[in-house]
Amino acid sequence: MILHSIEAGPVDTRGYLIADEQSREAVIVDVPMESHARFVSLLQQERLHPIAIVLTHGHFDHVGDVAPLARSLGTPVYIHPADAPMLEQPMSNFPGLDLPIEGMKATHLLEGGDVLECGGLRLRIIHAPGHTPGHILLYEMRENILLSGDVLFHSSIGRTDLPGGDYDALMENITKKVLTLSDDTIVYPGHGEATTIGFERNHNPFILEYLEHL
Ligand SMILES: [Zn+2]
Repeated sequence: MILHSIEAGPVDTRGYLIADEQSREAVIVDVPMESHARFVSLLQQERLHPIAIVLTHGHFDHVGDVAPLARSLGTPVYIHPADAPMLEQPMSNFPGLDLPIEGMKATHLLEGGDVLECGGLRLRIIHAPGHTPGHILLYEMRENILLSGDVLFHSSIGRTDLPGGDYDALMENITKKVLTLSDDTIVYPGHGEATTIGFERNHNPFILEYLEHL
């Protein structure tokens, strides 16, 4: 497996490039502002063929450069239907913030349980609303990795105070759909450093507090 992270934009958002070494097929997960040219040159350097751009959710910092990137690569864009309206109007949930982000219509919609094949990699979609209604995570079983977007971070969780946020739903989804993965699953979040399910299960203060009061 080939995995690269690109950190970019005003709130240090991480986008990822995951690819199968044999087939050279690649999937891009989240496209922060000012990441477009970096994704294009990474794909060229590694001689990869992008087959999909998947958005974990519709927040502006994760979709910032998706329209120009999709246009220049000619690659289809996937999002969960509940977050598709945000992709069309990325600044709609952030009144007062004026950033030049181009909205777009998704090419395909993804639901929980769907599987995206990328060469020998199989990316299973986990729908985990709470940070946004249509937030999805991608789990790859062979490599045992999870792309967690803004659901789970190293020692933290996604905020739930934005429109569509729901703390109870977020914690229930983390407990029932994320912590059910094995402790050695490597977690690549939408902000900050990578972590593991085991570390978060045992050290994440938000998870520990929630489990204590269940
Ligand atoms: Zn977000």
